[in-house]
Amino acid sequence: MGAILENALLYGKSFLSYGKVADYIPELAKADPSNLGICLMTKEGLMYPVGNWQVPFTMQSIAKTFSLILALQTAGYDKVFSKVGMEPTGDCFDSIVQLETKQLYPFNPMINAGAIVTVSCIECSDPFSEFLQLVKQLCFNDTVRLNEQVYLSEKHTGQRNRSIAYLLLSDHILEGDPEPILDSYFRMCSVEVNTQDLARFSLILANDGKDPVTGKQMVEDWIIRIVKTLMLTCGMYDESGEFAVKAGIPSKSGVGGGIIAAADQGMGIATYGPVLNKKGNSIGGIHMLEYLSRELNLHYFANKTDTAV
Ligand code: GLN
Repeated sequence: MGAILENALLYGKSFLSYGKVADYIPELAKADPSNLGICLMTKEGLMYPVGNWQVPFTMQSIAKTFSLILALQTAGYDKVFSKVGMEPTGDCFDSIVQLETKQLYPFNPMINAGAIVTVSCIECSDPFSEFLQLVKQLCFNDTVRLNEQVYLSEKHTGQRNRSIAYLLLSDHILEGDPEPILDSYFRMCSVEVNTQDLARFSLILANDGKDPVTGKQMVEDWIIRIVKTLMLTCGMYDESGEFAVKAGIPSKSGVGGGIIAAADQGMGIATYGPVLNKKGNSIGGIHMLEYLSRELNLHYFANKTDTAV
């Protein structure tokens, strides 16, 4: 396994010169473009880390998986899916166009518009502190915290997300003042983690909500089923279809450079590499996951009786 991961890393590195670090949130532009790492956990509890797996980064859109879990836990299926759909968009993650031209409700909870609505559905007095609590629990790390600089940077430059929220308000999909909803959304995106934290979370996703290490059911299985399905169909923005064909692992990326992948055989994987491709996905991460999918036969629809892929 160690050698496969080292080779995946080398393979991923060969693509880094073809992308660039996100800079539309100024603080993200400070990331070191040479960083690349993977952490893989098996359901036996073994951990295989390689490269720059310990470098901290902000979750960005990966937060959308946690906010969906929290919304489904507190508000329930009917409420959440009365406000947001389940369809892939084929558009970029911060697109506004379909809200105006196709349907008022955002297409799915994995794009910005859908996540802002999902956050608005969370029923509790302090959504961000509940969110942070959930992240700590599911990553098994009590020290996970908000990156204040990234949060402020997002808040000051988040005009596009603000436009989306006010459009949703005018169409009565967002209820109440958009500013506190946006503030929670920006904070959630700015929670700092590393690949070990996210691999631990992915391990729970990969095992239907049950932590295979402790045997404890951490999240109800019906919620995990929804989250993983939406990760597979919508988790990589307008590259979700191609990534599903090539890697076939329910995954979610963020512009901070992280990708989580809930792989077949109950494996949790997280990758980090801040250099992004044109769609906003980590270019090294995408290629490393495609490599691992081939080598470890992780594609959900692979022929499982044939080990030679
Ligand atoms: N915080 C980012 C934004 O709202 C998250 C987007 C992403 O990771 N794709 O623009």
